[in-house]
Amino acid sequence: MARLLAQTHPDAHCELDHDGPLQLAVATILSAQCTDKRVNEVTPKLFARYPTAADYAAADRAELEELIRPTGFFRNKASSLIRLGQALTERYAGAVPRRLPQLVELPGIGRKTANVILGNAFDVPGITVDTHFQRLVRRWAWTDESDPVKIEHAVGAMIERRDWTMLSHRVIFHGRRVCHARRPACGACTLAPLCPAYGTGPTAAAEAVKLLKGPRARELAEQAGIPADLVPAAAVAAEVP
Ligand code: SF4
Repeated sequence: MARLLAQTHPDAHCELDHDGPLQLAVATILSAQCTDKRVNEVTPKLFARYPTAADYAAADRAELEELIRPTGFFRNKASSLIRLGQALTERYAGAVPRRLPQLVELPGIGRKTANVILGNAFDVPGITVDTHFQRLVRRWAWTDESDPVKIEHAVGAMIERRDWTMLSHRVIFHGRRVCHARRPACGACTLAPLCPAYGTGPTAAAEAVKLLKGPRARELAEQAGIPADLVPAAAVAAEVP
């Protein structure tokens, strides 16, 4: 299944725009309960206004809140960003540490965010157990654990360490574009022949293709053996959650 995922999503990558570990930490904090697309709309202005950890530490709260308001929960997120800036300035001279135990001690940074930062800003392999990853690996019976840390360890034991970061991207890509929480596109899914949860969503091709999402919807259908012209324009235009 991991090999099929790699073939299905050759474009898998971290969908939060960033340049360097501080920007990625900030974007990941903002991504809680918010789409990556919305975060990416907000961050260019934010990163220009606050280029360093010290800038977040000294931020005017009202101004910061206004900038990040579209991402939701903006008061809590502003607090996290200010406290993160303060902690980085006080403990690490403004740099983001590159080790998991130090990262998870920082305000606003849980284990999931720490793994995103390690994998994507420092090239240290990390498994990101977000809601998509959690749902899919359980559907695939890779593990029956429900605790994210246990899931991380269970999947980590099955997959080579060097593939952890890319596997996370591919699983999350599949969860956003094909294997949705409510109605997965089983009849248009490349993993169908191997998936123990096949049939959770519609299996008829004509119905399943409507559930694919994003600009590669037609390629995804073709990879699953379905003619691309069955995929409606609405699926190609659909916003990836
Ligand atoms: S066959 Fe269905 S349940 Fe299995 S991975 Fe594909 S979309 Fe998800």
